[in-house]
Amino acid sequence: MTPETAATRVAPNQPPPLVGHDVVGGDAALVDAVRRHADEDTLASLAALGREAGSAEAREHGVLANRHHPELVTFDRYGNRVDEVRFHPSWHWLLGRGVGHGLQAAPWESDDPHAHVRRAAGFLAWSQTEPGHGCPLSMTYAAVPALRTDEGLAKEWEPLLAATRYDPGVRPATDKVGALAGMGMTEKQGGSDVRANLTTATPTEVDGEYTLEGHKWFTSAPMNDVFLVLAQAPGGLSCFLLPRVLPDGTRNRLDVVRLKDKLGNRSNASSELELHGTWAQRLGDEGRGVRTIIEMVAATRLDCVLGSASLMRRAVAEASWHVAHRSAFGGVLADKPLMQNVVADLAVESESATTLALRLAAAVDRRTDPHEAALRRIALPLAKFWVCKRTPMMVAEALECLGGNGYVEESGMPLLFRESPLNSVWEGSGNVNALDVLRALHREPEVLDAWLTEVGLAAGADPRLDRALESVLTMLGDTATLEQSARRLAGQMAAVLQASLLVRFAPPAVADAFCATRLGGDYNGTLGTLPPGSDLSSLLTRTTPTLP
Ligand SMILES: Cc1cc2nc3c(=O)[nH]c(=O)nc-3n(C[C@H](O)[C@H](O)[C@H](O)COP(=O)(O)OP(=O)(O)OC[C@H]3O[C@@H](n4cnc5c(N)ncnc54)[C@H](O)[C@@H]3O)c2cc1C
Repeated sequence: MTPETAATRVAPNQPPPLVGHDVVGGDAALVDAVRRHADEDTLASLAALGREAGSAEAREHGVLANRHHPELVTFDRYGNRVDEVRFHPSWHWLLGRGVGHGLQAAPWESDDPHAHVRRAAGFLAWSQTEPGHGCPLSMTYAAVPALRTDEGLAKEWEPLLAATRYDPGVRPATDKVGALAGMGMTEKQGGSDVRANLTTATPTEVDGEYTLEGHKWFTSAPMNDVFLVLAQAPGGLSCFLLPRVLPDGTRNRLDVVRLKDKLGNRSNASSELELHGTWAQRLGDEGRGVRTIIEMVAATRLDCVLGSASLMRRAVAEASWHVAHRSAFGGVLADKPLMQNVVADLAVESESATTLALRLAAAVDRRTDPHEAALRRIALPLAKFWVCKRTPMMVAEALECLGGNGYVEESGMPLLFRESPLNSVWEGSGNVNALDVLRALHREPEVLDAWLTEVGLAAGADPRLDRALESVLTMLGDTATLEQSARRLAGQMAAVLQASLLVRFAPPAVADAFCATRLGGDYNGTLGTLPPGSDLSSLLTRTTPTLP
């Protein structure tokens, strides 16, 4: 065989696929965060998940679930209205494993003091198999704090949402060993401004029971068993629990009009619903709908940060793996100084996201501590704004490390890229979260104290951090332009918080590179621009996955 013929039969200089690695154990930033906020036992409890997430089997299910799109089945063969969505078996495999690993509502029923950190780390790692099925897992996780507004409903549903058995199918709760939850807030006329919801709720003769009339414009995972929705009751906008199947075993009226043809993953379904005489139970008082569902929103915002951190980690893992195995111009790409700068910068971005996300999860574990509660209130919208906003540019840069291969579906990078804007859009888009930071600062003075206390723990450790903190205080003083500058403020507060955590806990190479570039100093607008003197090789070694 001539060399030319050989190249058509066996591909030279192509990296092996990144499979068979440990997605938890091979992620040094994640391992350090779990050790920091939990313990060795927690880390050990994630070992099986980490190995499974990197297995060829899980990766293949991730590919198949996105290749075979969910299908809306409005009627059965006899003409009965069924409003079901059929998913590929790989979707069920992924969701079943996610539920089995306790990534839904399990932490709320656990007496493990680190249950939320464990779940957050597991979710970050497991979502690297495929991001779409994280949506029902997240909503199920997030439903519980809102559900607890009503003791009776919580008693009925929480054990099912927390059960680690996946039990799909349209059947009443009493026939199920596990259930999943969704949410319906967004309507055609508005998603951010939910007070403009048009769906009405009319009380029935039974106390606490209503019938709903209206629509929902974006209800993801419509095969879930129960949904928390907003509707206008006589006393104002209220929250309702809407089961897919009525207690007598008949189907509740949930007309699935259409599935969205959307960007991002294609494994999950997001639907448009019509509600006509749909039975629902009130959750919380009439007129307190936003107050009630905000608990669910807060928990899903944590998962937006985790989901973005997960996309970043998968992206930098693939990028660093590729450059470690690909040569150009007579040498391995990972040895080229400029490529080292790019991958090192990606690694800093990924680690800063993971570090902040896990810090927020730790605040959920310690939510009865007033400092932790106040910190969570301010740090969630900060992180949701900043981490999710930076994900698309980070993933695009990681994709480019694979050259043309990164632009091809089989590499997995296009799915990461298409998915990368999602977490910034849903559950409060960028502006809405930046404005929520202002709202929190205005209404709850203790949140600024909590942020200052937290970042103050790193005071004096790095002069760039001290200066950035001063700049935040200056911005806060300029109250006349605060709304217009909300993104500047949120971004800087988030970066200062990340820097303070990295300075305290990360290896010096990570903290130094972050402080040099993310605090408004030496940064020219693109990744791969870490300044001279940055410890690129140790950043590369820390981030590049290895096989056992
Ligand atoms: C894939 C996907 C799945 C989804 N799943 C669900 C689901 O399961 N359940 C559900 O209820 N919703 C779901 N959504 C909807 C999502 O939460 C909304 O799209 C989102 O909240 C924004 O609402 P909107 O689309 O009506 O945009 P709008 O509210 O019209 O906002 C448009 C833009 O204006 C900005 N904006 C709004 N108010 C202000 C202001 N005061 N000042 C400055 N800027 C402002 C926003 O940040 C945004 O950029 C999903 C969305 C996507 C993309």
